[in-house]
Amino acid sequence: MNRGLLIVLSGPSGVGKGTVCAELRKKDKELIYSVSATTRAPRQGEVEGINYFFKTKEQFQSMIASDALLEYAEYVGNYYGTPRDFVERMLASGKDVILEIEVQGALKVKEKFPEGVFIFLLPPSLDVLKERITGRGTENSDVIDHRMNVAVEEMNLIHYYDYAVVNDKIDQACHRIQSIITAEHCRKDRFVAGLNTMAAATEKA
Ligand code: 5GP
Repeated sequence: MNRGLLIVLSGPSGVGKGTVCAELRKKDKELIYSVSATTRAPRQGEVEGINYFFKTKEQFQSMIASDALLEYAEYVGNYYGTPRDFVERMLASGKDVILEIEVQGALKVKEKFPEGVFIFLLPPSLDVLKERITGRGTENSDVIDHRMNVAVEEMNLIHYYDYAVVNDKIDQACHRIQSIITAEHCRKDRFVAGLNTMAAATEKA
């Protein structure tokens, strides 16, 4: 059985990764979402184990020490990380797994899983990005300014990615990402090992 695809959806904060990812999961029930661990406080409506695993700094550090995270990053004063075991088990069982993470973490995943599918989500413009960060209404103006500065730096990392998708309309962005996933499943490399085995069996017969 083929391993599943590791799909990394990244891009600047506020670009709509969470919304796009939630929509993708609705459209494709087979797609496995990796729930991250974080030291950030829960926002209103966020649920433990659904949105994040909320951890204290000490708990997070002990996850780092025991190598329980595939990657982690410090982002605007909080830690975020991907629990390793779940992702590896799902990939091994042939399921596609999607990580919705910021860019530092995505680059670390790329070092460990160069065969992953790295998708950079772009805002239609910087003005729209600022509106989205401000419109969320959960952060004060210092945090918003800081996030905008971080976002501009993050955009420069686009050349490390395989694909770029503009998040102008959620449905269109999802459709593009689904098309990328379908195309990645059709890569010849995923079939070569199986074909070689078939060829060897035919020669023997
Ligand atoms: P927020 O606080 O808005 O939920 O997330 C802040 C940023 O952290 C977002 O860009 C989000 O994609 C990213 N993030 C969420 N989970 C992870 C993770 O496990 N690892 C990394 N590196 N970033 C994450």
